[in-house]
Amino acid sequence: MSEGIERVKCLIIGSGPAGYTAAVYAARANLEPVLYTGKEPGGQLMITTDVENYPGYPDGIMGPQMMEDFRKQAERFGTDVRYEMIAKVDFTGPVHKAWSETGNEIHADSVIISTGASAKWLGLESEKRLTNKGVSACAVCDGFFFRGQEVAVVGGGDTAAEEALYLSKLCPVVHLLVRRDELRASKIMQERVFNTENIKVHWNTEAKEILGENDVEGVKAVNNKSGEESTLPVKGFFVAIGHKPNTDIFKDWITMDKTGYIQTNGKSTRTNITGVFASGDAQDNVYRQAVTAAGTGCMAALDAERYLTEKGVI
Ligand code: NDP
Repeated sequence: MSEGIERVKCLIIGSGPAGYTAAVYAARANLEPVLYTGKEPGGQLMITTDVENYPGYPDGIMGPQMMEDFRKQAERFGTDVRYEMIAKVDFTGPVHKAWSETGNEIHADSVIISTGASAKWLGLESEKRLTNKGVSACAVCDGFFFRGQEVAVVGGGDTAAEEALYLSKLCPVVHLLVRRDELRASKIMQERVFNTENIKVHWNTEAKEILGENDVEGVKAVNNKSGEESTLPVKGFFVAIGHKPNTDIFKDWITMDKTGYIQTNGKSTRTNITGVFASGDAQDNVYRQAVTAAGTGCMAALDAERYLTEKGVI
């Protein structure tokens, strides 16, 4: 093998519940996994507050704490965790090639993709211009800056409900802009939103423009039924409208649906490329929970182990 090329049995790409669970199982099966965390180590749970629905935590746990525990458990069994991105892959040959952002070339007998998904944006020019100047996709990260001030949250799912509830503890008024006349969020989250006095739900309402040059000074909203416009005097604008799978680097090789979710084979984590497995939100647009992601991470490691055993690598 040429100098500078590293040969590994199992390369895991991504560090959310799927990636770390795959790592725990792969490490315990002597696959000596190397895990590249990506640019957001810990994934989406790093920007969430209380996780109340992960079994085993009767009192709930903070997302970042949970991910630290996942990482420690993966490292305890010898996972080599690297805080870097995989920038490019080539799945043409029997040995799968990957390149890290700093140019490490890795040749892997098996690859587990667990790159997750990222927050979506509305696509307004003013949103882009004011990102990190009052526009955010993470209330837990940025809410503190707007304490005592009015804010808006866009979206109607569990994420939007969670963001609005978090902000309601810091801000006098939280405007929740919902484009339909109902929430998509789970019933329990809906109830919490409706029972929180300082969350004002604006039904059939869309953000048209975020006002301000260097800071958010308000948001122009429009009722998509009546056409009526209003200006909300908010200083913070939080976008919580769903996610996009982080699968762009695989698109030349791996079969995906039209949104970029990786397609897996039957009741397995196998992709169309032999020896490449997919787990977590990168391949799941239905359940998208930490516990289901962890479950598929476990499946991917077991699939990889069987594959490597059949191939005679382990
Ligand atoms: P969802 O896809 O569930 O919801 C997205 C919301 O944003 C919908 O209400 C959608 O409206 C709205 N939306 C989408 N695009 C736009 C747009 N351009 N303008 C305005 N509104 C828009 O995403 P979430 O991130 O909320 O949740 C994803 C998954 O994660 C879900 O399965 C959820 O249950 C889970 N989750 C669980 C949590 C928990 O249990 N603690 C916390 C957070 C998420 P419409 O309804 O009209 O399509």
